[in-house]
Amino acid sequence: MHLETIREEGRDIPVYGEYDIVVCGGGPAGVAAAMASARMGRSVLLIESYGFLGGVNTAAGVNGIGGWQHDLDGRPLIAGIGREMMYRLAEQGGADPQEVEQVFLPVSGRPTYREGGLGCYWIRSNPDIVKIVLEDMLIEKGVKLLYHCQAVLPIMQDRIVQGVYLENKSGRYAVKAGIVIDCTGDGDLAARSGAAFQIGHPHSGHCQPMSLIFTVGNADIPPLKYDERTDERDVPILERNRYAEAIKLARNNREIVLNPNELFCAATPVNRDNRSIRSVNFTRVQCADATDADQLTQAEITGRKQVLESILFMRRYVKNCENAFLINILPQIGIRESRRITGSYVLTQDDVLNGARFPDSIARGIYLLDIHNLEGVGKSTLRLLDQPYDIPYRSLVPLQIDNLLVAGRCISGDHGALASYRIISHCLATGEAAGTAAALAIKNKQKPRDISIEILQQCLVNQGANIGEDL
Ligand SMILES: Cc1cc2nc3c(=O)[nH]c(=O)nc-3n(C[C@H](O)[C@H](O)[C@H](O)COP(=O)(O)OP(=O)(O)OC[C@H]3O[C@@H](n4cnc5c(N)ncnc54)[C@H](O)[C@@H]3O)c2cc1C
Repeated sequence: MHLETIREEGRDIPVYGEYDIVVCGGGPAGVAAAMASARMGRSVLLIESYGFLGGVNTAAGVNGIGGWQHDLDGRPLIAGIGREMMYRLAEQGGADPQEVEQVFLPVSGRPTYREGGLGCYWIRSNPDIVKIVLEDMLIEKGVKLLYHCQAVLPIMQDRIVQGVYLENKSGRYAVKAGIVIDCTGDGDLAARSGAAFQIGHPHSGHCQPMSLIFTVGNADIPPLKYDERTDERDVPILERNRYAEAIKLARNNREIVLNPNELFCAATPVNRDNRSIRSVNFTRVQCADATDADQLTQAEITGRKQVLESILFMRRYVKNCENAFLINILPQIGIRESRRITGSYVLTQDDVLNGARFPDSIARGIYLLDIHNLEGVGKSTLRLLDQPYDIPYRSLVPLQIDNLLVAGRCISGDHGALASYRIISHCLATGEAAGTAAALAIKNKQKPRDISIEILQQCLVNQGANIGEDL
């Protein structure tokens, strides 16, 4: 809490431009939102802090794009822009064509929802090729990109968003916008507009831990849980924590203080043909708030210390890793959870577990409740779903603030629901819906909360998205 204040002098801010739609954040949700708005003929500016697109996928190294499945009727659960993107990635060598086909070819009959890794499928991606492919796709659609640029504050008139202030190497600017879509992951713009939000667990306020991902060489680890091409699939998914005992021993021997992801999750080969180079998601920084600059800084520092410990652990305890060496640490710690902007509807854990249906459905989800330990040592909570659930449009529309939509990780849901809808494929789907809704609102001179749900749903279906219609 900072109590002392200094009054900033008033000043005239130059206007950088005027756009129908300004998308803040170029992660999966922001990219899909910008693409959806632009293909409906709207002028779109996308503002991104880094010098590339992709968000956690590219900046934090989450290379397995997850949460793909088939719906109850066998068609792809997430399609639309997600499908377009994955096929483009496969064409450019950034994803495995077989993995892409597997999730987008329809299947006959109702899936079991136990196939794949953790009840859904993953498409391994090459984050550097992702950056290039996403850029190509947005530029082709006419989206104006602005990198190395922070969206700092919404321009407000009463409770109506009119644009954003941004800061970059050129200085501080204003951008006028018909509608702003907050895809910052943390809901920065929405929070600064005065929109209500919640953070973390309802009792402790703690968010899921952050993880700093790193790449190692000489680490030809025997097949792990996500590799369904091996006999590993015969082991029940939730029991695949073979490293728990080794971790306990290493902690007792004081060889590590890190309190890692005991599933040794996602020690994925970065390339299918070279199993000795792995992207490792093992570190775990608990009880840190990603919206607090000091805590976020400390989390990065702690995360990097944990990377070194992880490598020592691998060398000592993990088969075939005796000579493992560090190739790189990703530029940013991965943030699983922060603000959830309160919308007209708060999607709940029960909705997710019970396959809730909504008349204003704009996307479908299936990813499990995946809650890494908020505090203390021990196994994460993993609850597979028995059927998909709807994500309602109302979860993208913040209460009381107009001309603002949210998409991706920061949509309106509770702590449990976020544990499911945060997966990249689902963020792509909510981004596509927000971008389409914003384009319709501009076209019809309406506020996003007033648009016709039927027309929005029809547009999404026409564009190839699955909203659970006709089920
Ligand atoms: C450790 C970890 C492992 C995960 N594993 C998987 C996995 O295996 N598979 C999977 O599918 N998902 C996984 N996820 C979840 C998934 O990666 C994220 O939830 C998802 O990327 C969120 O998408 P988003 O677009 O909402 O936000 P982000 O991906 O966070 O993108 C937000 C973007 O906004 C930019 N930004 C933020 N603030 C501003 C601002 N003020 N101005 C301008 N730009 C801004 C950021 O730089 C970033 O590029 C994992 C997440 C973590 C943290």
